Amino acid sequence: MLPTQQNAIKRPYRLIDIIQETPTVKTLKFKSEFGEIMDFKPGQFVQIGYSGDGSKIDIQRPYSIGSAPGSETLEFYIEMVGGKLTSILDKAKIGEIYNISQPNGKNFEYSQGYNKKSLFIAAATGIAPFLSMLKYIERNNIHEDIILLYSARTRADIIRGQELIEFNMRGIAKVIITLTRAAEDAEWKGESGRVDMDKIRRYAPDITERVAYLCGSNKFNSDMTNLLTSLGLPNDKEHIKRDVWGGH
Ligand SMILES: Cc1cc2nc3c(=O)[nH]c(=O)nc-3n(C[C@H](O)[C@H](O)[C@H](O)COP(=O)(O)OP(=O)(O)OC[C@H]3O[C@@H](n4cnc5c(N)ncnc54)[C@H](O)[C@@H]3O)c2cc1C
Repeated sequence: MLPTQQNAIKRPYRLIDIIQETPTVKTLKFKSEFGEIMDFKPGQFVQIGYSGDGSKIDIQRPYSIGSAPGSETLEFYIEMVGGKLTSILDKAKIGEIYNISQPNGKNFEYSQGYNKKSLFIAAATGIAPFLSMLKYIERNNIHEDIILLYSARTRADIIRGQELIEFNMRGIAKVIITLTRAAEDAEWKGESGRVDMDKIRRYAPDITERVAYLCGSNKFNSDMTNLLTSLGLPNDKEHIKRDVWGGH
């Protein structure tokens, strides 16, 4: 069953903060109307639903949770693409109530001790589940060998860049950000271009010992799967974990 079709139980959450994260992405923070703290694993997603002020409109879409388990608020990084739900979320106001389902997505969750070495690969808003994982890893004092390769279009499109730099500095993960449009930015000193064979070889030469987590569009996930399998990582759920998003 596709994530968008699940009939999960939904609970009311109030929108308590909106941050214009990048030119196209907004961070939306929600708090349970009943003071509940959702029990979820880092890497999971929920359905956010809108019932149109009591009308019969009921639109719901899946979004990865970007906050850490145990937090009072649920945080999401949402690209406003002008579709059915994002058009509504783009105009959302603090104080509005949305319905949020129970967490889902067991295949992508991060579990302590499950894998000692990981390679996280994210594109654009695909960074959301990894932000949750990194916060969880730090809060729980987990020491595992984690590399994060994150691809964004331009410097302005990097989500939570400062937080990622700090995770890197504190040794939670080795974070490498690459800009696909680095040519337009003379001051960018980091990696440029897509995540490719050369970058994986340079940053994760021990790739066959790692578990890869991929989060981006379906095309991105399938391109990354092809790269990883050609470098010797078996194409199965034990070695390559994918968050199945959509076409964009
Ligand atoms: C497990 C999972 C986790 C996800 N997590 C996130 C997340 O953390 N952050 C996030 O941003 N998304 C996430 N998504 C994608 C999200 O669920 C929606 O698909 C997305 O927000 C678009 O919903 P929509 O109703 O606005 O678009 P729809 O109306 O469903 O349109 C579908 C697609 O058509 C395109 N489209 C529609 N209208 C326009 C338009 N006017 N201009 C340009 N393109 C258009 C968009 O590419 C859109 O994705 C996730 C998806 C899955 C399956």
